[in-house]
Amino acid sequence: MSQAQIIDGKAIAGSVRQEITDRAARLLETSGTRPGLAVVLVGADPASEVYVRNKDRAAEACGFHSLKHTLPADTDEADVLALVETLNNDPDIHGILVQLPLPAHIDESKVLRLIRPEKDVDGFHPVNVGLLTSGDRKNALVPCTPAGSLVLLKRTLGDTLSGLNAVVVGRSNIVGKPMASLLLLESCTVTIAHSRTRDLPAVVRAADIVVAAVGRPEMVRGDWIKPGATVIDVGINRIPAPELGDGKTRLVGDVAFKEAAAHAGAITPVPGGVGPMTIAMLMVNTLTAARRLNNLPDEEALF
Ligand code: NAP
Repeated sequence: MSQAQIIDGKAIAGSVRQEITDRAARLLETSGTRPGLAVVLVGADPASEVYVRNKDRAAEACGFHSLKHTLPADTDEADVLALVETLNNDPDIHGILVQLPLPAHIDESKVLRLIRPEKDVDGFHPVNVGLLTSGDRKNALVPCTPAGSLVLLKRTLGDTLSGLNAVVVGRSNIVGKPMASLLLLESCTVTIAHSRTRDLPAVVRAADIVVAAVGRPEMVRGDWIKPGATVIDVGINRIPAPELGDGKTRLVGDVAFKEAAAHAGAITPVPGGVGPMTIAMLMVNTLTAARRLNNLPDEEALF
């Protein structure tokens, strides 16, 4: 008995990717520039391999030049740094993405700090973090998952989120903190909740917008949701699904979907919500980086 509007992330991501494909074709025609994305994968983590393959395919489908560097898990830190430096200096590459997590012997922060900020399409470099948190979104490259979540919110609620109460559950550098920065720039009243938050259900009940980025399957329950609230579920959790057969698993979010859909005004499903938006926004950032590196003005923002 779902009453909420289901936010179709797959369809919205498809429309964003189509727009980027069109814009990339125009860029090639008018300036001879083909956006170039390089993805670096160190080691053979199966989930990371899937992500990298999907990013590579999406870039090619948008008409980008796409380069994939797969290095063995025991690659020296110095070699990873040298590769990043080569990509920094490659004029055909406008976006560099180092797939996380890196193996333990490599200092992640050192690698991320070496990426030229103008090519940092993940938006994790301190320069981009600083630009976003200081309110200069126009010059920043914004992390893809929060940017995609904001697109979903605006396609659902309209462009004006001003004055709404937003609760972001999770304070990671990848999702929670940049999401809170984006919502603050939209003039929401923002609360960031985390594992030490007292009475989390009561905090979430005050929210017009809930963004869950926790990594705990179905933690946010239906009766935590204020009637009519918009719920963005960033979580991707694989859980056992014996009902589908022996040893089978399925994906769920951080929100108990069925329960929450009975209270929410709109909600993202998992899968098919935020996930497809992350890759679409990587394409947006790569095109933005290609234009900026060629001293071309930004086009109309997609969010
Ligand atoms: P993370 O770095 O592990 O951060 C999780 C956050 O949740 C932390 O801030 C933690 O609080 C908080 N938390 C943990 N238990 C909690 C509890 N019981 N109550 C309240 N807060 C709690 O995770 P992440 O990288 O942000 O990812 C979060 C989820 O999003 C994961 O499921 C991940 O797979 C998914 N994800 C999806 C995409 C996508 O494309 N859709 C992209 C990135 C991540 P403390 O800081 O106090 O420990």
